[in-house]
Amino acid sequence: MNDNTKINKQIALKYPNLSRRQFIGSLAVATSSVALGGCVSGGILSAGDAPSKKTIFDQSIDSSKEKKTLIRGGFLYTSDRNNKAIENSWILITGNKITKIGSSLEVEPEHDSSIDARGKMVLPGFVNPHWHESFVEGPDRMKPDDSDLAKMPFSDGGNIEALGQYFGVIADVGEKFTEQEAAAIARWSMWTQLRSGTTALGDIGSLNSTDAMANAAISLGMRIRVSRWGSDIMIPNGASKFKRIADTDKQANDWELLMQKWDNHSSGLVGGMPSVLAGFGSSDEQLKSLGEIANRYNSPYAAHLAPLKNEAKALQKVFGHSSIGRFDKFGLLTENLLAVHTAYATEMEYQQILKNKVNVVYSPANYGLLGETTVSETGMMGRLIRDGAPVSCSTDGNISYTGGMPEAMRYTYLGNNEAHNDNTTVSPTMALRTGTQNGATALGWGDKIGSIETGKEADLVIVDIDDWRYRLITHPLSIFLIAGGSKDVDTVIVAGKVLIKEGKSTTIDENKMFNEYAVAVESARKRIFS
Ligand SMILES: [Zn+2]
Repeated sequence: MNDNTKINKQIALKYPNLSRRQFIGSLAVATSSVALGGCVSGGILSAGDAPSKKTIFDQSIDSSKEKKTLIRGGFLYTSDRNNKAIENSWILITGNKITKIGSSLEVEPEHDSSIDARGKMVLPGFVNPHWHESFVEGPDRMKPDDSDLAKMPFSDGGNIEALGQYFGVIADVGEKFTEQEAAAIARWSMWTQLRSGTTALGDIGSLNSTDAMANAAISLGMRIRVSRWGSDIMIPNGASKFKRIADTDKQANDWELLMQKWDNHSSGLVGGMPSVLAGFGSSDEQLKSLGEIANRYNSPYAAHLAPLKNEAKALQKVFGHSSIGRFDKFGLLTENLLAVHTAYATEMEYQQILKNKVNVVYSPANYGLLGETTVSETGMMGRLIRDGAPVSCSTDGNISYTGGMPEAMRYTYLGNNEAHNDNTTVSPTMALRTGTQNGATALGWGDKIGSIETGKEADLVIVDIDDWRYRLITHPLSIFLIAGGSKDVDTVIVAGKVLIKEGKSTTIDENKMFNEYAVAVESARKRIFS
């Protein structure tokens, strides 16, 4: 019996009300070459005019030899600083960049090919800055009649002991995959994100290996910041001392290796960031080491920070500080911090988070599934958004697909307005910003992606709005957030390359990819978790 199996068995004994499947599933929640050649043949693109000379708008970009594609006729939401919306728009993509934007009233620039976006809405690629690759346990096997429904350890203010212990256990699962299993699981898991419009992911610690996820991103053509989950201690309930559960130096060494290998990767698609589970999962040495490595690489760094009501009290007893207080003590409350689910702060901590421009990331569509109450109990997310903080939304991870960024943005829009008894708390365009530009900022890529503006890389999502839901509608984004969803995503473009067209991959056999995943998940699950 290996160590992890032992600990799994201990957890099962300790929390008999949870089936192992539910427990691992719930915790996992909290828990080819890309050479498309820049163009795609077939229905969407058509032959157009000869390459044009440089215009006044793209002087800074040597575009004379790069292919020019015009996306024409779509209802455009730019998610730029002015929230510009253009009902009948065109966008010129030159190579991998957006080089010109206009409306049908203006003369179209010359181009080589075009994409017809009439009857569609054009949005920036969705950025999901908080996600965990955890499909090894999937798909979910809940009983269809709900007879196995039991409380999750996130309920009732959170069980710090159960969560700390489990997250420590899963920190090394990735090392137990075969290379083939890791690759097949990562590809399918990340494909579900890409298919639903996510063009950039932030991995905040996964059951899969860093290499498998980075390679899957490159193979699929999407972006990711890969991470490694630091979690070297856990706090027993009511304890005044923590228990060490992993080797701090080994986890720091893993960060170093992943940053060396993947940060600023030459593919242009992959970066690295160190992360820790939470304020209740890291020793002082680990937090110091987190700050040191992030500083040296000038990279973002991440943690689930104060997501549980019971957390501050438990940490006070052990460290004399809350989680947020500990991060402050080590100089970690900065604009490079990606702080996940941060809902329980004192007024002083709140003001510090605001002043230091900490990137708070939350997952509103996921809380009901786990019994967390991050949106309405303290109302902190809506307050941060109203106070101008760069809040972003995300999906979190799960053992199977439980929603994409369209669903996360829906809850951002509707949930905060409900929690604040005020429909102006989060507008539709602000909800879009939390799923695009603010996520990009949190990942340290705010100047590169996140909005549709000239000079940015061309990451775009095109959504079909030509049906009964949108008849006589003047604000299609609002309707998409209320009544649309992941499956409405029609086209996905990353760095000027069309990766999904009419809901289908342009490069990958989806059935083959799924079959490889199904085989891999079965063998990996048997070996690692039984
Ligand atoms: Zn998470």
